[in-house]
Amino acid sequence: MISVAEGQSRILAEIVPLREIEPLPVARSLGRTLAEDVLAPFDIPPADNSAVDGYAVNHDDIPKEGKARLRVIADLPAGWVFDGVIERGETVRIMTGAPLPKGVDTVVHQEITEREGDMVWIQTIGAGANVRLRGEDVMEGQRVLTAGAQLRPQEMGLLASLGFPAVKVFRRPRVAILSTGDEVTDPGQSRRPGQIYDANRFSLVGLVREVGCEALDFGIVPDVREELRSRLLAASEKADVVLTSGGVSVGVFDLVKEVLAEIGGIDFWQVNMTPGRPLARGRVGKAHFFGLPGNPVASMVTFLLFVRPALWKLMGRRELEPRRFEAVATATIGKKPGRREFKRGILTFNGRRWEVSTTGPQGSGILTSMVAGNCLIILPEERGPVQSGELVLVEPFQQP
Ligand code: AMP
Ligand code: MG
Repeated sequence: MISVAEGQSRILAEIVPLREIEPLPVARSLGRTLAEDVLAPFDIPPADNSAVDGYAVNHDDIPKEGKARLRVIADLPAGWVFDGVIERGETVRIMTGAPLPKGVDTVVHQEITEREGDMVWIQTIGAGANVRLRGEDVMEGQRVLTAGAQLRPQEMGLLASLGFPAVKVFRRPRVAILSTGDEVTDPGQSRRPGQIYDANRFSLVGLVREVGCEALDFGIVPDVREELRSRLLAASEKADVVLTSGGVSVGVFDLVKEVLAEIGGIDFWQVNMTPGRPLARGRVGKAHFFGLPGNPVASMVTFLLFVRPALWKLMGRRELEPRRFEAVATATIGKKPGRREFKRGILTFNGRRWEVSTTGPQGSGILTSMVAGNCLIILPEERGPVQSGELVLVEPFQQP
């Protein structure tokens, strides 16, 4: 029996990031890992400009108190540059985003002005007010993004604002997903007595896509040695990672480990956790292999704990730790010292603090616990029951 932490570190030690670079339009780069540092080719904003609609003035023309009257010599919309110089006693009407002309340093927002034909009354305001300075967001030459960053909507916007139509990212890992078991059949097919519809392949396809990898559906394989062998080999030729569920627990038809021993290499672990004790990891051909337990909750939880960080590392991500924090248990949670347990929890913010309770029955086949829940409640090996009011560690299902 190995601990969760040991399983995780053994898996990560085997993973080498893919590092195959591909260019992609920025608009399609969401969730990808940046493959290169990005340096700003110019300042943002590129020039001092107005933060409001108003009148651009020389601060020396503004009275310490009361009002002053200035001559309006031009109208300056965003996207246009005023070539001339603004002399003392003059002003231009300026729109948000328009570059400041020479001779002015301050913008008086429209709300505190009064227009009279060609003239405008302005009130006192601080020097430099309402001006966005050149380079105040980004300076030319600055490293704005570093390789390994995950591209979120804001990174996409920043890249575009720096004039880049495309970006270099790492290729997405391809992950083949198979279900095993004579009892498992596809939704849409008729179901014989004793058969169940496949849940895991669909949950795993979703998880793989959520992580940002490409999911390849390799269907259901019956517990027949030759079929399992040929399907695993076919999957390994198309994918960087092969993921199966079922067939890793001890049983007559549990062939995954035998076949894997022939066509790749396999470690077969008992992990000291609930749900999801049995776990296989190894290689099929050039692909990494993970054999997850068949019970639907166990396959999802073991994916989150062992496969997701491996995929993150393959993707070139720097951040391999899931987001976790403490929440207050609002009811007792049963637990015996011994295994590390991952309960499904409902996490809510009550306006002051995070609170969590379990979803109800916690069997490893109770998939509705994942549906009702929004987080894992992580209870370390040594701890016993949790009393209401105690702090527990939680990990939201959706990770940024
Ligand atoms: P196994 O690991 O193959 O012994 O399966 C453990 C349990 O999970 C059994 O009750 C299986 O019927 C069930 N199971 C295995 N694969 C799936 C699947 N793809 N979808 C839903 N349940 C499954
Ligand atoms: Mg099975």
